[in-house]
Amino acid sequence: MPLTEHQTILESIFIELEDNLEEVINWRRYMHQHPELSFHEVKTAKYIEKKLVSFGFDVKTNIGGHGLVAILTGGQSGKTIALRADFDALPIEDEKDTPYKSLNPGVMHACGHDGHTAALLGTAKVLSKYRENIKGNIVFVFQPAEETPPGGAKFMIEEGILDGVDYVFGAHLASGIPLGKVAVGQGFTSAAVDKFEIIVKGKGGHGARPHDTIDSIVIGSDIVNALQKIVSRKVNPLKSAVVTIGVFQAGGAFNIIADTARLEGTVRTFDEDVRKQVKDNIYSIVKGITEGFGAEFSIDYLLGYPALYNHPKESETVKGIFEEVFTESSVIELEPGMGAEDFAYFLQEKPGTFFNVGARNDNESTHFPHHHPKFDFDEQALLNIEKSFVTIVSHYLF
Ligand code: MN
Repeated sequence: MPLTEHQTILESIFIELEDNLEEVINWRRYMHQHPELSFHEVKTAKYIEKKLVSFGFDVKTNIGGHGLVAILTGGQSGKTIALRADFDALPIEDEKDTPYKSLNPGVMHACGHDGHTAALLGTAKVLSKYRENIKGNIVFVFQPAEETPPGGAKFMIEEGILDGVDYVFGAHLASGIPLGKVAVGQGFTSAAVDKFEIIVKGKGGHGARPHDTIDSIVIGSDIVNALQKIVSRKVNPLKSAVVTIGVFQAGGAFNIIADTARLEGTVRTFDEDVRKQVKDNIYSIVKGITEGFGAEFSIDYLLGYPALYNHPKESETVKGIFEEVFTESSVIELEPGMGAEDFAYFLQEKPGTFFNVGARNDNESTHFPHHHPKFDFDEQALLNIEKSFVTIVSHYLF
């Protein structure tokens, strides 16, 4: 069967992407060696800007912080799609033994955001040569501060970067998925992530005279136990929620009753109603227990990123075109998890999907989980991100 014009263009773009892979890997390695923490990505933003300018783009900088946007206006009119990459690193000491390990002590690209950015730059570079074939526009979004709430997505969106955009797409490398696979999911695939701090203020005293005190440790323990029952007794069993206490600090001596206890924890949910409900449950349980014992309390409750919802229609479309272009067996189901991803804000505004791109090979160096001090990935995955983005572009805009 002869190739359609559409397929011919796609094939020639793929060949160019393959030819450029070495360059994209070099960009990734440069950013990997020079990681910057969320909200401090000044040099990385400058690096991205320089690359985009060298491809001929007009670049908008300092959007919602250190964010950048470059728009490719196609030769013909049509839809507008946004493709997003994030570019912040983590406060982790790089323990890899590679020539491109981090040169910034205590800072590391341990989630693959360097790869996302290199791949989106590579995509922008090649697609910029196909302007005439594009019916519509592509908004290339380079987003800072994904790792630290309130994050960068929210602020970039508030500056209007999605005005006029019809669809949004984002990709994440995944060390848990074999190279060559892409994972697409429908509905919720990452959770709303909230954080709370509870202070129990009792009354300290001698360990031998509990009746003269209000024991913040005993009250805090009751709170820890009672909060576990929110998921089992309060949340609809058909919905998902996690309540974890990660910090319990109190006391200083074996024979003194502590006057104050401090607890910190996280709540993970998918459903907005469940999210609100768990927050209310925590408040009323803490109030009930502390007041029952005559103690006082305060709760500082921070709402983090919302749950990430992949729109069914666009997810189905993307899955279908990936199966067509990459073979059916290379497209797998994206398993939902209770982690966080601020691309959720993009998907609250516009239809689209957030997919994962497999990045592990047979070498153990690519098997570490994300945020591990030895995290690394097979750089062939960068080409797969690029091909995925181009496939989406070809479907919506060619
Ligand atoms: Mn990430």
